[in-house]
This record gives sequence, structure tokens and C-alpha cells, in this order.
Amino acid sequence: MHERSGNFEDLIERYCMGQIVDDGEVAAVEEHLLCCEACQKLFHQTNLFVSTFREARRWGPPKPPILSRGNRHHKGRGGQ
Ligand SMILES: [Zn+2]
Repeated sequence: MHERSGNFEDLIERYCMGQIVDDGEVAAVEEHLLCCEACQKLFHQTNLFVSTFREARRWGPPKPPILSRGNRHHKGRGGQ
């Protein structure tokens, strides 16, 4: 009934940040969101966080600490 949500937590985070470019992955996330309440909550939380972060960036200088969070996945990316 419920697939391993640990797998989806990461996908949902990337989905909210617009980092998923694979159509199959997008479809999998959206499909899972429709039937998983826990991931719906995560999705809304992450969405809120991402939009707050984007608003903050619009008015203030970018804050490097938030970027270091993704380093475990994207070594050598970002060019900073
Ligand atoms: Zn789930």
C-alpha cells in the first residue's frame, strides 16, 4: 500500500526545489503524493520552506550555509 517513503522524502525535497528533470521521477512523486498523507505534509512543509527561501533571496544576500546541505549529493556542482 505504502512504498518506502524514505525514498520519496529525498525526491519530494528535490521536486519542490525544481531539481527533478526526469519525467518518470516527477510522475512517481506526484503519484505517490496523491496517496501518501505523510509525504503530502512533507511536500507542503518543503514547499513553504522553498518559497520562504526564495523570498528571502529576493531581498537579501544569498546565504551559503543552506547550499552546503546539498553537498552530499552534488559534489563539485554549483561552481562556488
Ligand atoms: Zn510517502
